[in-house]
Amino acid sequence: MLRLDNIRVDNGGFFLDADLGVEPGASVAVIGPSGAGKSTLLGAIAGFHPVVRGRILWGGTDITHDTPGQRPVAMLFQDGNLFPHLTVSQNVGLGIRPDLRLNVAEEDRVRDALLRVGLRTLGERKPAALSGGQQSRAALARVLVQKRPLLLLDEPFAALGPALKAEMLDLVAALAREAKATLLMVSHDPNDARRIAEQVILVAEGRAEEPAPTEELLDNP
Ligand code: ADP
Ligand code: ADP
Repeated sequence: MLRLDNIRVDNGGFFLDADLGVEPGASVAVIGPSGAGKSTLLGAIAGFHPVVRGRILWGGTDITHDTPGQRPVAMLFQDGNLFPHLTVSQNVGLGIRPDLRLNVAEEDRVRDALLRVGLRTLGERKPAALSGGQQSRAALARVLVQKRPLLLLDEPFAALGPALKAEMLDLVAALAREAKATLLMVSHDPNDARRIAEQVILVAEGRAEEPAPTEELLDNP
């Protein structure tokens, strides 16, 4: 279980407060107006912003002051951030080792992640030789290959058209379920939440609320 125990997060002078818990294996959408603090919430869990009050607990362990690399977290950002000079396989390998000196078992993990996202035969290409949807799949593979139990997605597929976005959301949900991972996804679009999240965390004016069932929050406005 992820527990944010009465925390206050400092993002360059913007403060976010949260006191909430997320059950293991849950799939949760984080929604709210632009500037409300959704990215700040994910950034705090990932260890990018200092927590100036309260504690972050994962399975009862205090991770408030762990470095990002020590946390059980893998994060996918909006634009995926693939390096153009590296192949798709190398981009995925960066999820395991920044120096790309992978051992045989780690190379296997890269191949397995590419297989799972449907890019088995495209590992030797450069990102520019992939379609937009394939690039999103490669960025997702780089997150999956880390095998972390907590997946944080910050508006991951905002650049895709609606059909491709729906396909990617379904893929993320299926892969998270298979890995028994906990999923937190920021979105501007309530339809994204309806599609894959059982619960929603509402963020408004620097405060994140306890998760509530998606149908309660989004279907009874
Ligand atoms: P979104 O609303 O899609 O979450 P934002 O426009 O709020 O995106 O932020 C985009 C990026 O710019 C984020 O990385 C955020 O941390 C950064 N950012 C937003 N506002 C500021 C600011 N006032 N000063 C510095 N960086 C900011
Ligand atoms: P959201 O994801 O809900 O759009 P953010 O968490 O990105 O909101 O940002 C919350 C607030 O913090 C916004 O007012 C934004 O301008 C500000 N902000 C974001 N990043 C930074 C930053 N690096 N430095 C200062 N202010 C920031």
